[in-house]
Amino acid sequence: MKSKKESGVKKKKLISRRSALKGIGVAGAAAIVGSKTVQGKEREKVKPNLDYGSNDIRKKIFQKVSVTPFIDTHEHLIEEKARLNNKYTNFVKSDDWTAVLCQYFNSDMLTAGMPQEVCERFFSPEVDPVDKWSLLEAYWPAVKNTGYGQAVDITLKQLYGVDELSAKTVKKVQDGYEKIRRPGFYRHILCDLARIESCQVNCLTGVPFQESDIPTLLMQDLSIVGMLSGPDFKQFGKPTGIKVTSLSDWHRVIDFWFDKYAKYAVAVKSQHAYSRDIDYKQSRAEKVEATFEKIVNSQSVTAKEKKALEDHLFWYAVNKATESNLPVKLHTGYYAGQNGMPLSRLMNNPGSASDLCRLAPETKFVFMHICYPYYEPMIALAKHYTNAYIDMCWAWIINPVAAKDFLKKYLVAAPANKILTFGGDYIPVEPVLGHAVIARKGITQALAELVEEKWLSLDNALELIDPIMHGNARRIFNLAEKTKVLKNPKWA
Ligand SMILES: [Zn+2]
Repeated sequence: MKSKKESGVKKKKLISRRSALKGIGVAGAAAIVGSKTVQGKEREKVKPNLDYGSNDIRKKIFQKVSVTPFIDTHEHLIEEKARLNNKYTNFVKSDDWTAVLCQYFNSDMLTAGMPQEVCERFFSPEVDPVDKWSLLEAYWPAVKNTGYGQAVDITLKQLYGVDELSAKTVKKVQDGYEKIRRPGFYRHILCDLARIESCQVNCLTGVPFQESDIPTLLMQDLSIVGMLSGPDFKQFGKPTGIKVTSLSDWHRVIDFWFDKYAKYAVAVKSQHAYSRDIDYKQSRAEKVEATFEKIVNSQSVTAKEKKALEDHLFWYAVNKATESNLPVKLHTGYYAGQNGMPLSRLMNNPGSASDLCRLAPETKFVFMHICYPYYEPMIALAKHYTNAYIDMCWAWIINPVAAKDFLKKYLVAAPANKILTFGGDYIPVEPVLGHAVIARKGITQALAELVEEKWLSLDNALELIDPIMHGNARRIFNLAEKTKVLKNPKWA
């Protein structure tokens, strides 16, 4: 079912800058400078989403939000080449239209009651893509309205021109998938359609840092989770060539990754909160050396010993990041997947985050996903701590209305220069488009409501759009300098 025409996206005539900018005002025009204009036909497809309000306030705000580029501060995108070669089938199981649904939405399918074996058939490369609709049909009405479902729905509309997924349209969806999925489709979807200037990728394929083929578009985080959790001797230790028998050897392993990649990375990232709270206590090496050696020798350690070692290694890595001028991105809140999230643990994340901020005032902490559902304390955190930054990545599709409310409250409580408003958080590239549309809608609504309720003037609301959509990210992650370095990385 694969198209053989994979010879590259045809260069369509770009609409002229003058006509693209017509009608969006001076502020909007300024915002589009430096970003690509949207190709003519795609601009038509974007149209149905242009009416987020008929009154003047909503129109003016949306006009600006719709043309303002995002810096996308969090993705897990695999390399385009890997997608085209159908590599990493543990992440994107089938090279067909179900790739758009294979992350997050698959969890809604299961929690809606789809049996595991049906779900597996749905994503199986052995099943004809067109036949897959009949497996989803019974569950679609229950899940199409969630944030995950809306991201899928919008993506199908805008990428493949399909109004709603159904028995009638599934063939069109599959044809559209094959047509789009060809060399250059990352740039096409991310830059031309979603108006994203650059992404920040936390690679999940095992390497601590992905040497990207498109390094200025797919910028990368340096993953630190394997430095502290486990630790990961295979993926983090072995490639360094360092023989690890003691804690000081492991410190050298951590040093190795920072020496090699700190100048190319935009931040360091840890999703350790999937297995414990982020309550890292500072402790000296002498206290955990024996525990480390037990682990090296495959001896068992107590939960208390394990935590103390992780705590120590966390701060070792965080101090390296701070010395390297890299912000520290930490997962907080909601868990991907289904049937495993301990909400009582998540509830402690905001309190623990405040301890981290106090313990390391020189470190920039970026707390991700608004710690959903415990997002109100995160506003207090950003308001109180100079070094606390909040990233709304993933939040718009976990709960779009909560994300809108969060942003609205944040902007009248905490400094506007510490909020990051978009990260798709996806492994497949296609639904990033749907997510970006939802985020632009939510940003528009948050700002418009603040103006309508007379908390902000329209001018003040319009002024906030550039910083919250890209200005803050450019500054916090030092992107001008990183872009320069990434134009000519040593692996190119
Ligand atoms: Zn993520």
